[in-house]
Amino acid sequence: MRPELLQPLFAETEALKGVGPRIAKALERLKLTRVIDLAFHLPTGRIDRIRANGVSHAMVGQIVIVPVEPFDVREGRGRAPTRIFARDADDNTITLTFFNNPGWAKKQLPIGERRVIVGKLDAYGQELQIVHPEMLEEGVEPPLREPVYPLTEGIANKRMRELVAAALERAPELPEWVEPSLLKGNGWSDWRTSLAKAHSDEDEDIARNRLAYDEIFANQLALLLIRQANRRRKTVPLAGDGRLVDKLSLPFELTAAQQRVIGEITGDMAQDRPMLRLLQGDVGSGKTLVALITMLNAVEAGAQAAMLAPTEILARQHLESLKRQCEAIGVTVAILTGREKGKTRESILMGLADGSIDILVGTHAIFQQKVAYRNLGLIVVDEQHRFGVSQRLLLTEKGRTPPHLLAMTATPIPRTLTLTRFGEMEVSQIDELPPGRQPIETLVVSEEKTTDVIDGLGRHIAAGGQAYWVCPLVEESDGIDAAAAEDRAQILKARFGSDRVGLVHGRMKGEEKDDVMTSFANGELAVLVATTVIEVGVDVPNATLMIIEGAERFGLAQLHQLRGRVGRGESKSRCLLLRGQTLSETARARLALMRETNDGFRIAEEDLRLRGPGEILGTRQSGDQAFRLASADQVRDLAPTAQSDAQLLLERDGGLKGERGQAARISLYLFERDAAVGLLKGG
Ligand code: ADP
Ligand code: MG
Repeated sequence: MRPELLQPLFAETEALKGVGPRIAKALERLKLTRVIDLAFHLPTGRIDRIRANGVSHAMVGQIVIVPVEPFDVREGRGRAPTRIFARDADDNTITLTFFNNPGWAKKQLPIGERRVIVGKLDAYGQELQIVHPEMLEEGVEPPLREPVYPLTEGIANKRMRELVAAALERAPELPEWVEPSLLKGNGWSDWRTSLAKAHSDEDEDIARNRLAYDEIFANQLALLLIRQANRRRKTVPLAGDGRLVDKLSLPFELTAAQQRVIGEITGDMAQDRPMLRLLQGDVGSGKTLVALITMLNAVEAGAQAAMLAPTEILARQHLESLKRQCEAIGVTVAILTGREKGKTRESILMGLADGSIDILVGTHAIFQQKVAYRNLGLIVVDEQHRFGVSQRLLLTEKGRTPPHLLAMTATPIPRTLTLTRFGEMEVSQIDELPPGRQPIETLVVSEEKTTDVIDGLGRHIAAGGQAYWVCPLVEESDGIDAAAAEDRAQILKARFGSDRVGLVHGRMKGEEKDDVMTSFANGELAVLVATTVIEVGVDVPNATLMIIEGAERFGLAQLHQLRGRVGRGESKSRCLLLRGQTLSETARARLALMRETNDGFRIAEEDLRLRGPGEILGTRQSGDQAFRLASADQVRDLAPTAQSDAQLLLERDGGLKGERGQAARISLYLFERDAAVGLLKGG
């Protein structure tokens, strides 16, 4: 239960004076539904105004507060704006322009009456104008400096300022959870004062740092509580005897790194508390094989294993490769996705319940309520970054005794992110690629050269090669992406024959996608045109050419993932990044980095650094934004301290019962880590 103290903050915005359904609706567009959302709606900048007696004392672009006297009106017709001509104290003319509501404008600025107006000075031909100035009442002076907030239609900055102020008024004083020495060392004020300052222009940077720290601290504390709670859980140890793994016939040796992480994982599984481990490894480092060996370890010990994939394509592909390996050694593998229905589904459910299925792969369907396992001992989650913390927790509660959990992530994760997103987990890292891999050669090509690129593609497939052609995510809409990919596929089919070019996109039915993927994997298709659905996991070693259209529209992590689809065999692979004509600074930096390095960890660090809000498409995949206040830089700077501080607190007061412990509980509620509070020792 959320403490009484915080109730005013968690009330709906309509609880604030002056907020009715209309304003509440508008605020909702900015995801501001509760008082606390407004309180944390921090300004993104400042505006400065200057007070001037006349416009000649100001410069174009400045925001002026100036007294004027209207002397003429030209009323707008149709689309034309209404212009009111006014004169300032020096007898200079200024045009006040209004795009609608001519009647209203005339009323606000009657001819011959002095008014004080505020607005941005524009040059309009030879003249000076202000578009939609604010008209001030007598005696009201706006502040010379004021915060600027992210806004939405129907809520102007002034209004937002008032709303935020009303929210801040409701913010209670809270007991202190920050270590005294840390407060002092950073010059931080208490929470409530810091919140107010963060909206002001007095020490706002220091105040913002404190708020960011609070958020990161709550995050770290929550993760450590999960870790602590997990240590207290008991489960069945799974120690395989190697009889299945030894029978695997692999065409290659495990790398030293693979062997090491397998040792770490099986070491965990042999304990009587559930494993909670993250497996990191760059694209192509061979995580799938580690997963297989881990699952066989569970099966050897008499348990079932389940593997969760983020997409159906990937689940099917895992099924194929697992089957190839497992059937030969008498291990039964099945798949369960939304597509297995009726009789098929029934028989899978039966096999899981009676234990005749050893390994199940699938999408989320494998954890639905109805799915009962005889003895689920291990869950492997592939491509971990797509699943959130709460989901991970839930997953581990599914079996009768908690299963061991291995999470795998394809994108290398910068250290600070590992700390803040996976702080509750142990980490294993595959830091070496299988031998013989050649670095992928990456070229950035202007889209003006698309014809040349298509010619090159023709030579590539004529020589027996296969290639991917990835079309950009145009908008946050599958429909539009699909259309772009369809157009591209049309063009390539016309050129290379429709039996040589396949297409997959998010809008297609599962079966259709599978058919196309299978034909590509077995070499019937030479070119696979795709949207980002193929981003993760797909493994076709003979495909050695990757063309990414609109490359500037992708984020670094995504580009790295996509490029990782090639370079999987021993022959030289290439990646062509087709870019548009105009590039933003960051996009340019991203492409340059891609050309320069194949090192996933370096790319991940840079990604974090370069990422500007709204810069990267495919945000719908990053639903795991852990922080609302803390910026990437703040996370990097403050997370290590927050972690050790949270750790220290828990060592001293594991139940968070003391004075600081109680305060820390409040921080968990404040940042909505309520679930973590439930994990405290003794409830
Ligand atoms: P990822 O870590 O991206 O999931 P995969 O598991 O898909 O990588 O492996 C990439 C490719 O490397 C696959 O074709 C796989 O068969 C191969 N591979 C895995 N381990 C080794 C190894 N030790 N030696 C050689 N090739 C390997
Ligand atoms: Mg993989």
